[in-house]
Amino acid sequence: MEPGSDAELIDSVRKGTAAAFGQLYERHVGAAYNLARQLTRHQADADDLVSEAFAKVMNTLWTGKKTSTAKEADKPQARRGPDSAFRAYLLTALRHTAYDKTRRDKRVELSDDVTTVSGADAAVPFSDTAVAGLERSLAARAFARLPERWQAVLWHTTVEGLSPVEVAPILGLTPNGVSALAYRAREGLRQAYLQVHLAESTSERCKATAERLGAWTRDGLSKRETAQVEAHLEECERCRALAAELADVNSGMR
Ligand SMILES: [Zn+2]
Repeated sequence: MEPGSDAELIDSVRKGTAAAFGQLYERHVGAAYNLARQLTRHQADADDLVSEAFAKVMNTLWTGKKTSTAKEADKPQARRGPDSAFRAYLLTALRHTAYDKTRRDKRVELSDDVTTVSGADAAVPFSDTAVAGLERSLAARAFARLPERWQAVLWHTTVEGLSPVEVAPILGLTPNGVSALAYRAREGLRQAYLQVHLAESTSERCKATAERLGAWTRDGLSKRETAQVEAHLEECERCRALAAELADVNSGMR
């Protein structure tokens, strides 16, 4: 772990250094406000969301520490909370807090439609709608299989659109190191993405459908094959998700 990286600061928090949490706060509070302002109408609500989200993450890191001995705390399975992907964890906590509040006490008014962020808001580097869509997709499942460090670099570079120079201090790497890590992480994501598709297509009927879905998406099947594929899609939610995914890929493909 490099000095001053998120991973090192998280480790210090787990070891009881409260000041390290202050550094994490400084580093990520801006991104937290970007999201909070997208989710709420009032500044006071945004303030509440941000402080609650930080408190939750802090609490998670500390609970993980307290419920285990020092020796056990070094084992990954005894730890709770993030090891390096602090911002992703924080923003997820913030989003859950916002939804919980709306359901529970109607105290926070969510903005009319979080999915229609546009105009000035579109310049905000972090877009929650992108993540919301991602969560439902196979890409999210592939993402979840990646090592946390790869998730962190992809989050900062691809989701938030930060440059390697901006991400370098967060991960404790040089800008070149960030680029190299992002390159490996993207390739890892591609492989995991393919693997998720395979894992989803276990039964024979699913396999037969999956093999022809590419052609089906491009209207390249015979009438008979089209009917077979569509009959299976009627009854199989997994393959429907796969088909929707391919339709997305297809529409974005140049
Ligand atoms: Zn199927």
